[in-house]
Amino acid sequence: MSHDNPKNARWVRCPACARQALYSPDNPARPFCSARCRSVDLGAWASENYRVAVDKPQDTDESPSGHEAPH
Ligand SMILES: [Zn+2]
Repeated sequence: MSHDNPKNARWVRCPACARQALYSPDNPARPFCSARCRSVDLGAWASENYRVAVDKPQDTDESPSGHEAPH
């Protein structure tokens, strides 16, 4: 048996971990090497955005409803 190499597959560098990632339809996480690296990269991106977006003090506007009567 010979090792079959798909024609439309090539190796790229994973943007997350800089390792070899298979760039082919077989790899849904392309150009990342794995779905993990992909989620990590997206997560970092999102958290970066969130950090800027959520930059306001929390409003602790909890007014007691007074529904429960102390006994
Ligand atoms: Zn990777």
